[in-house]
Amino acid sequence: MSEFKIDGAKIRKMSEEFKVGEDLILLLHKAYCRFSPSIQGRFLAHIMRGMESYIRTLTKNDRFIIICEPYKAGEFSQGQKQAISCYYPSRTTIRSNDKRNSSFIINYNSNLPEKELRDYIAHEIGHIFLAIMKKSRAGDWNSAGVPDTEPLSSIFGIFTMSEKNDFYANYDVSARNHASWQEMFDSFLKIHQGL
Ligand SMILES: [Zn+2]
Repeated sequence: MSEFKIDGAKIRKMSEEFKVGEDLILLLHKAYCRFSPSIQGRFLAHIMRGMESYIRTLTKNDRFIIICEPYKAGEFSQGQKQAISCYYPSRTTIRSNDKRNSSFIINYNSNLPEKELRDYIAHEIGHIFLAIMKKSRAGDWNSAGVPDTEPLSSIFGIFTMSEKNDFYANYDVSARNHASWQEMFDSFLKIHQGL
């Protein structure tokens, strides 16, 4: 079986290094696995579209969109986060006056190497997933006591990229791939520590 498969040892490692309970990680993994079939065999761009339609269904709002774009010239400066995101629930007006509109906007430093950029984006997608799970109380997700912030978004990112790395490996795109699960794990730990 693939070395990128999430197993008990990996869950324990995430719990230790990110200092979050195994029970919480398992709960997130269970929620992730419900979302996962909608992204199988897809590139990261498609994961965003998969997440978009998953959230449209969960929130019953077909006006929800995910926008992912680089910082505009002059917006990114030294010491700033490599990527940021913000969720705009419906009834906030952003780029439109339609009150049903809802969006999640990710901005990133376009100078990041692709491999790292993918991890940052996966981390940010984790934030919208957590926010929506909390809001919708989907499945057995209990909003009381389940944080929707760090480090769970990194752990969501690890789940996503563990699955994707396997997929990209079939395309032999080494610039996009992590050579090992450990290398990918370290990348997410670095993102987490930079926050
Ligand atoms: Zn974050």
